[in-house]
Amino acid sequence: MEELVKLQLNYFNTNATKPVSFRITQLKKLESLIKSNEELLNEALRKDYGKGKFETFLTELYVVYDEIKVALKNLEEWTKIKPIETNLLNAPAKSYIMPEPLGVSLVIGPWNYPYQLTLGPVVGALAAGCTVILKPSELTVHSSSLITKLINENFDSEYFTAVEGAIPETTALLEQKFDVIFFTGSVSVGKIVYQAAAKHLTPVILELGGKSPTIFMQDSNLDITVKRMLWAKFLNSGQTCIAPDYVYVHKSIEEKFLQKVSEEMQVMDYKLKNDNYVHIINERNTSRVASLIDKQKVYIGGNYNIVERFVEPTILTNVTWSDKVMQEEIFGPVLPILTFDNLDDVIKEIKQRPKPLALYLFTQDENIKQKVLSEVSFGGGCINEAVMHISNGELPFGGVGESGIGNYHGEAGFRAFSHYKSILDKEVTPDPDVKYSPYTDEKLEMLKSVVA
Ligand code: NAD
Repeated sequence: MEELVKLQLNYFNTNATKPVSFRITQLKKLESLIKSNEELLNEALRKDYGKGKFETFLTELYVVYDEIKVALKNLEEWTKIKPIETNLLNAPAKSYIMPEPLGVSLVIGPWNYPYQLTLGPVVGALAAGCTVILKPSELTVHSSSLITKLINENFDSEYFTAVEGAIPETTALLEQKFDVIFFTGSVSVGKIVYQAAAKHLTPVILELGGKSPTIFMQDSNLDITVKRMLWAKFLNSGQTCIAPDYVYVHKSIEEKFLQKVSEEMQVMDYKLKNDNYVHIINERNTSRVASLIDKQKVYIGGNYNIVERFVEPTILTNVTWSDKVMQEEIFGPVLPILTFDNLDDVIKEIKQRPKPLALYLFTQDENIKQKVLSEVSFGGGCINEAVMHISNGELPFGGVGESGIGNYHGEAGFRAFSHYKSILDKEVTPDPDVKYSPYTDEKLEMLKSVVA
């Protein structure tokens, strides 16, 4: 690991990654590498946890293509020097901000979207002009080894390489000094990464998790909104960091809401033998998700098969904050429904807990939208939709508080891997002596009149 980081640092110091033309060539190369291997990439994900090609395209490959498209379209603009006004004290001079790549970057990915959440950040790193060491998750054996192979066969390791491994390998990587670390995963491992980075004062971007609330107000158009919310929840079998974790429904529409949920769940084709219903990543997680299902509270579903790594889409009702399902991020196809009378009570409950990664609000009332958006802190989210904010490549994506530090996608991804150097470029003449000693009262008066 030490040699690899040294190799990349030496390469970075040749300035080879800095020309915009170089970065564009590399991004295009990455794009064509993925495009020409789509079938293999689909197959690997199917082997890992039964993900079908529809979801693989929509939630993995498309997102990476979109990131690359946005970067290629805007890179010239993003890399431009930005002129800033010069104050009177420094005139005559030019002031400007100049983006520069941070240097050697480490990108650590999770298993739940093994292409999007590894290659997405990599696009930001390459666009910014960094070198990259990518460490995909060890849990998606087939997709991680495929992307490692594709990257290592097509890019020079001094510029962009992938390293497979679990805790020991990641620990060894984290002992090295990087210029920036981008981590996506759990809150607990995020803290380990943050501590390791602190030893070298390395900046981090932490994309973490948590429980994302969803609120249905009385005026919600249930015919449309319930379908949207359920799709977002059961996508990837609920193994999505921004999945609606739990739903708060206004008491006055509970019956209609549940009726609509039943109707939609009958239409949705999420069965064990369905090629489009994603499995749970491993038996350990299947048992964990299954243990969150309180049989007494099952409204729909509730069946599971640990060996087949399958949990049926499950709706729980009459749920309260003391239920087990409300004690941790669910990260599976189980959806608890809580009810409320007063929005202020919901806001209070959410604010007592770690700041969520996402929040979804279903209403058409502008005052309620403004109230929730201005009173509750969360990473990002949607109104009358769920999950899809991640698919707009120009919207920065990230958490706040325990759900993460920093953000990426589009220009935010470029910024995450860049430093913005501030420069005062001064004319040689004139050189008034007001700031030089001897410091007289007269000079002080003159100085005050300039800066006041
Ligand atoms: P994880 O934290 O277990 O693993 C993530 C990465 O860290 C893997 O590459 C793994 O090898 C490595 N790792 C694990 N333990 C480590 C240790 N002790 N020391 C060093 N490295 C270690 O996360 P996961 O199970 O792969 O993903 C699920 C979690 O990630 C959920 O909490 C989810 O909400 C979160 N997540 C967040 C986002 C986001 O964009 N904010 C996206 C996806 C997942």
